[in-house]
Amino acid sequence: MLVRLPESLRRTPQGHEAEAILRSCVHCGFCNATCPTYQLLGDELDGPRGRIYLIKNLLEDETGPEATRRHLDRCLTCLSCETTCPSGVRYGQLLEIAREHLESRHPRPWRERLLRRGLRLLLTRPRLLRRLLPLGRAAGPLLPKSLHPYLRAARPAPPWPRTPHHSLHTPGAAGNDGAKHPKAASPGRRMILLEGCAQAALRPDLNVHTARLLQRLEITALRPPRGGCCGALSLHLGARTEARHLARANIDAWWPQVEAGAEAIVSHASACSLMLKDYGRLLADDGAYRDKAARIAALSRDLTEVLAAEEVAALRPRHVKTIAFHAPCTLQHGLGLAAQAEDMLRRCGFRLLPVADAHLCCGAAGTYSLLQPDLSHRLRERKLAALTRERPDCIATANIGCLLHLQGAAVIPVRHWLELLAEED
Ligand code: SF4
Ligand code: SF4
Repeated sequence: MLVRLPESLRRTPQGHEAEAILRSCVHCGFCNATCPTYQLLGDELDGPRGRIYLIKNLLEDETGPEATRRHLDRCLTCLSCETTCPSGVRYGQLLEIAREHLESRHPRPWRERLLRRGLRLLLTRPRLLRRLLPLGRAAGPLLPKSLHPYLRAARPAPPWPRTPHHSLHTPGAAGNDGAKHPKAASPGRRMILLEGCAQAALRPDLNVHTARLLQRLEITALRPPRGGCCGALSLHLGARTEARHLARANIDAWWPQVEAGAEAIVSHASACSLMLKDYGRLLADDGAYRDKAARIAALSRDLTEVLAAEEVAALRPRHVKTIAFHAPCTLQHGLGLAAQAEDMLRRCGFRLLPVADAHLCCGAAGTYSLLQPDLSHRLRERKLAALTRERPDCIATANIGCLLHLQGAAVIPVRHWLELLAEED
């Protein structure tokens, strides 16, 4: 693609990156075939190729910011187009640059800015969200319907597993039962657990299940004080500076344990796993954090990867379930781990049923279900029809966003796959 960005933009790292990505697109349009919004709306500008043209025009001479924003807002950031593209176009990175460009140079009307700022403020702060949940439930009928599944889904946290003796002491942190331990033997295998933000408030039980599951594999899950949101939500809403700030805060919180030999940073939410693996790129131009960010990214593992590398036969449930597995977009298109996850689930004893159009997004996509409820619900209907066609016992997934979104309309249980293993604790 012929691209002529203004010199002032080309000199910035983002402009340089955007130009390289735009030039790699050969307009073939293969990506449209697997784009959920193009399938729903049938408009070239709601497919990846059209969006790439809109971004090019915007970056070249600020053409059509309002139309560009409208079509980019409808994009799920599902990355299905990246999986399909034969030319390796990094659409997700281009979209990230374009969103930040739009937010900084063509601000939204104040109501939209307020809503997005409110979502970022609330969803990235688990303590605040936890305190506001009872209020939200009381005001339920007055709140938008898209919020109801999230309010209904909230659960209390079960107790954390007790820290095994061999892993009692880690510099800079308490053990995973929150207690300080003065002496210890060999530290054993340890992994830092990303507890997340909205997830830590709504479904803290998933973090406890992860800690217990790791313990069954003789791995201690460390809970660093001051660790927080991974930054994905801010990044997807065009607030890159905020995302970088959150990434730096996590690096500072985790670094003492990384230096003390923690072997990985683990997350059971594939969206967060993808973000952590991107820290190196996110902070590549930050001299103070570049090397640490690259190290954190290299140590990051989705829980699926951790289990795939372990002997999981011992985790096999007594009562085998027949499941329809929904691989979140972040797991399949972002991390490329869908096949590995399915294989791991089979080795754990689950029977997996075939699911049509498994590459398509369920419509959750972070805050998409709140900001684009109509498209989001249409995608959910399609996804649930595909997932329930073969009559599974339940639907299993691997990301909190998909789980809550599908739960909002499913007629059978929707669970995180690790819950299914935890049932046998
Ligand atoms: S990220 Fe998903 S919704 Fe957006 S253009 Fe690509 S395939 Fe379409
Ligand atoms: S498939 Fe790739 S090269 Fe072809 S139009 Fe889409 S992004 Fe461009």
